Amino acid sequence: MIIAIDGPAGAGKSTISKLLAEKLGFLYVDTGAMYRALTLKVIRLKADFKDIEKLIEISTSTEIRLKKGESRSTIVLLDGEDVTIPIRKPEVTNAVFRVAAIYPIRSRMVKFQREYANNDSIVMEGRDIGTVVFPQARKKFYLDAKTLVRAKRRKLELEKKGIEINIEDIVEQIEARDMRDKTRDCGPLKQAEDAVYIDTSLMNIQEVVSCLLSHIKHEK
Ligand code: C5P
Repeated sequence: MIIAIDGPAGAGKSTISKLLAEKLGFLYVDTGAMYRALTLKVIRLKADFKDIEKLIEISTSTEIRLKKGESRSTIVLLDGEDVTIPIRKPEVTNAVFRVAAIYPIRSRMVKFQREYANNDSIVMEGRDIGTVVFPQARKKFYLDAKTLVRAKRRKLELEKKGIEINIEDIVEQIEARDMRDKTRDCGPLKQAEDAVYIDTSLMNIQEVVSCLLSHIKHEK
């Protein structure tokens, strides 16, 4: 069984998807981590983000794997190296849209993402899961929340990592990222027609998980 979870940055996708996967005993797959890992490699190689051919070349010679870590964590391996922490750096977050907008790179990622469903039931989160990666997913959710709520959540997350950014800057970054994700030609962020839309602005984590579970059970 495939559960697809899409939505903009900070809507709670990762936290909710991890918990949901754990409750269902499914594999959790974070597709954003894959785009982030490739972006990190491009930054490390000091390649020019405007050189599309170079980015495609880098992607074809890059191995990205997601491995289950302890508890609910996922370990992200970039050519065998654990990059779980560095892929969350702001410089990666701000540049990832550049690699995510390139069609051959997305096709390759989508191919790898589909392989995760070969042997397991999965909860996969991203931007194009219900529309492109698994249009046949058994259950699709589109998680959303008001921009200010999403920005406050992101601020708390960053503070836990010792990073201080003012809320206005986070709102600006989130809006810019959403706009880029929604307006790109390939695999844009978009609610699938058959996805359940959930506004998490006024909900806590447990409420969202319960809501998703009740939709899934109802379906069975
Ligand atoms: O989910 P996360 O915020 O880590 O994703 C980082 C970026 O990766 C997104 O802003 C988007 O540009 C890209 N992405 C994507 N397609 C996905 C998942 C993420 O384009 N399925």
